[in-house]
Amino acid sequence: MEIIRDHIGFFGKMNSGKSSLMNLLTQQETSITDITPGTTADTKVALQELHGLGPVKLFDTAGLDESSELGNKKRAKVLNVLKECDLVILVIDPSTKNFDTESLIFEQVRELDKQMLVVYNLFNKAHSAFVGNVESQISNLGLYPSLELNAVDNSFRSLLIDFILKHYDSKKNQVELLPFVERDKLYVLNIPMDDETPPGRFLRPQAMAEEYITRHWAYPVSYRMDLNCARSSNPQKEKDRFDAFLDQFKQRPAAIITDSQAMDIMSKWVPGDIALTTFSIMMINFGSNGRLIDFYNGISAMNDLKPGDKVLIAEACNHSRIQEDIGNVQIPSKIKALYPGVDVEFNFGREFQSNENLKQYKLIIHCGGCMISNQKLQARLRELRNTGIPITNYGVFLSWLQGEKALQRVIKPWF
Ligand code: SF4
Repeated sequence: MEIIRDHIGFFGKMNSGKSSLMNLLTQQETSITDITPGTTADTKVALQELHGLGPVKLFDTAGLDESSELGNKKRAKVLNVLKECDLVILVIDPSTKNFDTESLIFEQVRELDKQMLVVYNLFNKAHSAFVGNVESQISNLGLYPSLELNAVDNSFRSLLIDFILKHYDSKKNQVELLPFVERDKLYVLNIPMDDETPPGRFLRPQAMAEEYITRHWAYPVSYRMDLNCARSSNPQKEKDRFDAFLDQFKQRPAAIITDSQAMDIMSKWVPGDIALTTFSIMMINFGSNGRLIDFYNGISAMNDLKPGDKVLIAEACNHSRIQEDIGNVQIPSKIKALYPGVDVEFNFGREFQSNENLKQYKLIIHCGGCMISNQKLQARLRELRNTGIPITNYGVFLSWLQGEKALQRVIKPWF
């Protein structure tokens, strides 16, 4: 299972000492350092455990001031990395003259409301005298916590870590995966399993839910629903099996978390005294840092669709898709049946199309986003919010298909 990490990036001009700073933290030559400008051709990534902060992902980025065609490409990439960072460390060599690059980074930090710390890398102690000059050239920079050090001097390592720990407010644990879980209560995970289900393990959302419930001293129990039987002309056999499963426990399950594609069955079969929600809703609430309300509000755009409109189905990974895949078969066919003439298009994979291109869509239906980091998902959602296009989620959509009552039911545990 992917560990949730704080994303910390080093940004600045070429040769400001970003790579040396990264090496200082990782205690190894993660990044090649050299006085040749532009040595860091692409972003270097290091995974590490920082004492006091836990798992982190460190990004050593290319200098933003390279003026060439390649430099422009690097700049776009670096700014994308910045969007995904929880903490931006602006590395400044105060002995240099022009601070346009630092100003650009600072502008982005403020626009994206990122946390930022400033590190003045002093190649010579006497350069400390230039710090005031930098702060006078970039207005408000002096309001941010700063540290002066020499990035190639190992003795500054603990000072740097203490500086980060003192000023950085980790948001990693802000949102609970399943905030409604209570100690000693029973929770059912409905995991139908199909040809896409990999052998030997649960999918990430299922494993996360099981771990979370157990960690919180409650009891997870999984049920494999036979969806083929439940949807057949004789569903009673599976219905009886499901009812018998629920009845065997001394205490009533407090909630059932289901695979979203089983909502057509679960919305009817789960007794009213048991709360019901879906893995996809759980993941999008968690990954978006608690912004489920945006996805709930977005579903109302379905009511306004008319022929010629376009809907985008977005998945954050490129898993192998079988015939009855939820993203490229099940959801599109439901939309086409309900709204003839509405076009459905796809964006599968980690990278998203440009905001300009997205403007053609009336609605975006996004998967749970379980295979990308929360930071990447949040950066993606922030971009989407800027376009103003409504966005909803697989779990919300598949519940909405079952009617308003089913939708309210799956949303209720979260608010
Ligand atoms: S990232 Fe999206 S499409 Fe890929 S496995 Fe997770 S929920 Fe499914």
